[in-house]
Amino acid sequence: MKYVIGIDGGGTKTLGYIGNLEGKIIASSSSGPSNYHSIGIKRTKESLGDVINFLCNSVNASIEDIQLLSLGLAGIDRPEDKKNIEEILNFIGVKSEIILKNDAVSALVGAHGKEYGVITISGTGSISYGMDSKGKLVRAGGWGHIIDDEGSGYDIGRKALGAVFKSYDNRTEKTLLTEKILKYLNLKTVDKIVGYIYSNEITKEHIAQIAPVVFEAAYEKDKTAIDILDKAVDSLVEITETVIKKLEFNGDKINLILDGGILRSVKYMQNKFKERINKEINNINISTPLFNGAIGSLLIAWNHLNIEYSLDNIK
Ligand code: BGC
Repeated sequence: MKYVIGIDGGGTKTLGYIGNLEGKIIASSSSGPSNYHSIGIKRTKESLGDVINFLCNSVNASIEDIQLLSLGLAGIDRPEDKKNIEEILNFIGVKSEIILKNDAVSALVGAHGKEYGVITISGTGSISYGMDSKGKLVRAGGWGHIIDDEGSGYDIGRKALGAVFKSYDNRTEKTLLTEKILKYLNLKTVDKIVGYIYSNEITKEHIAQIAPVVFEAAYEKDKTAIDILDKAVDSLVEITETVIKKLEFNGDKINLILDGGILRSVKYMQNKFKERINKEINNINISTPLFNGAIGSLLIAWNHLNIEYSLDNIK
């Protein structure tokens, strides 16, 4: 029996589904992050290997029984990225045909079943991606945490840490972020944050995980926290508008999907973002995804093989 696998890999976790050639999902699996730019080749091999092997084992199949592997991974844009991921998959033992896209593309397909419309992601990283009816694909933002990823969890976490140190120096006023971040990190004094942040185990996921502390401070009306979040919303609006302006929707309603832990689940950010976009762009319908990006990857695989599926059967 042959199978297809769909995977979505981001800055914090990797999720995969295995389906049959009759358009049915059989099992799912998840593991750690798989953006190889931020975590390196070794950890990416582990995350992808764990998900692929678990999925095969769960249907008593061997890796050779995979007919098509479809992946949407954060950090995948350039031909070099594709080559590196192909080498990783080769190492894991994948022999099948591979479809490899950026995670925003599979998220867009998972969101409403087709590669059409606009998606803005703010999770560990951020990006905006869109495709119009002529098949033109454009993106803005999402050039990784060191260069860009404005409005992402990483960006918010990093700015909050910076604000704590500015206030510690008396360069800026006091902020609730100081006490909240120290509590979150279980540290007693601000200078101890330095040792934590610059230790070898700290990755961009750890910085992104500080974002909820900033939401908490903003709910308690801390001016510094509100300012950081307003700037994050500005950046997310900017990348979204840039993408929309480059596409042609010929008067059709623009479907904008909000994805990633921050835009999908944090009402404070979602509402502020929606309010701004609705004010600035006409004829737009904003929603959150129907299905996740891993299902999006699976749908891309089934579409590629002309396999019929019903979205009603997909949970
Ligand atoms: C990556 C992008 C990705 C985005 C959203 C960024 O860090 O560079 O490729 O699409 O995060 O996951």
